[in-house]
Formats: sequence, structure tokens, C-alpha cells
Amino acid sequence: MTKRLLCITAHPDDEAGNFGGTLAIYGRRGVETSVICLTAGAAARHRGAASSDGQLTALRREEFARSCRRLGVSHGEVLDYPDGKLASAQVLKVTSDLVLRIRRIRPDVVLTFGPEGGVTAHADHAMAGMFASLAFQWAGRDDRFPEQVQGGASPHRSRKLYYSTGLITLEGRQPVAQPPVTASIDISAVLDVKLAAFQEHTTQAPLYSIFQGAVRRHGGFEHWHLAATAEPQRAEFESDLFSGL
Ligand SMILES: [Zn+2]
Repeated sequence: MTKRLLCITAHPDDEAGNFGGTLAIYGRRGVETSVICLTAGAAARHRGAASSDGQLTALRREEFARSCRRLGVSHGEVLDYPDGKLASAQVLKVTSDLVLRIRRIRPDVVLTFGPEGGVTAHADHAMAGMFASLAFQWAGRDDRFPEQVQGGASPHRSRKLYYSTGLITLEGRQPVAQPPVTASIDISAVLDVKLAAFQEHTTQAPLYSIFQGAVRRHGGFEHWHLAATAEPQRAEFESDLFSGL
């Protein structure tokens, strides 16, 4: 049976920058991969040729679609929550949107950010991880959003939830307590794909050389923290997110 992976992010370019190597690796292995991005990135400092928020989000949606194609993502979707303000979004509304998508996509594995917001501690990343974690749990329960179940979206228990994490800190920033690494995925075979996907975000072009430098220096692996499993188990170090499935 086809295995499925769902990645839940905050901004167009997260799918490439934080998750791109893993998405590309599993796409190549025949896993059906999906990305749900909560905002269209209207608050970005770098705005390309856009002269309004509407123009910028239209561009960023196109860039996201091109990046997803590069990464072999089967289904990519950008929702319309306000960039920079996920901490003020309605918890039940966002979680309901994500639960509905999990019930439709029916992933085996869900990837997102941890509640610390990754190495940059970005509040939107933190909130995307919080909403995704709730949705991972609630999608499987028939007493959460029962109106969806009555409408035909049957409950779905994904098997594993992972948070993006790492082994580096950023100089000149406040320290961040990151989730411990429990899985490392060798992405060296798809480094160029990850870079090309990020480069599709042409409005963010001023960030590209910094990104490229970091990926070339540290980017041979993407690191993960196993945050929840459908069956009780002890954590073991993994080199494959689908091990045991
Ligand atoms: Zn982001």
C-alpha cells in the first residue's frame, strides 16, 4: 500500500528550507507527500517586485507550487491565515482545518515544527507545530469535530508525529531549547533539489546565499524528534521515518 507523509508548515519556503530534503527523499522512494502551509507569507521583509500584500501572496503561492513540484510533492496547499499572527489565530478554527485535511489525506507520518519554533524560535513556526500536534491527536478521535465525521471524513490515526529539530544554534540569537534528535535522514543525494526548491522562492532571493551556505556547511542531514506514536513504544534512534510501519 502507498505510504503517505504530510508536512504542516507556516510560510511558503519552510517546505524547502526546513523539510525539503526529507520530502524529496521520500517522494523518490514512492511515498505520497503533501504539504499544508498555514499562511501565504504576506509579512515577509523581502517582497520581490510586489507592491501590495495581495501581489506578494499571489507570487508566494506560485513560488510554493513550483517548490513543491521540485520536491516531488503530490499535494501542496497554502491556507489563508495571517502571516506573523498565528499566535492570535483561533485554535479551534485552525485545528479543525488541519484535522479535516488529515482525515482526507490520511498520512502515516506527520512532520511539523516543535513548540520552540525551530532554531530561529519563530512564533509562527511554534504555533504551526502546536496546531499540527493537536490535529495529529484529534483527527483520530470521533468526538473531535464530529460534524466532519458525520459529513463523511472518517477519523484517521496517523502513526507517527515528528518535529523538525537540529544540532546547531545560531550565533547572536537568544538560545533555544530544541527537541532532542531521535532520527536523522541522510539527504545528501537531494541537496541540489532542496536548494533548487528554495531558489524557486524568487521573492526571497536575498536569503538564498545565506541558505545555500548553511546547507552546504551543515545540510547533509535533516534531523527529527519523534514526538508521538500511535502505539506505545520506547524511542529508538532512527534513520528512516517509516521504520516499523
Ligand atoms: Zn517560516
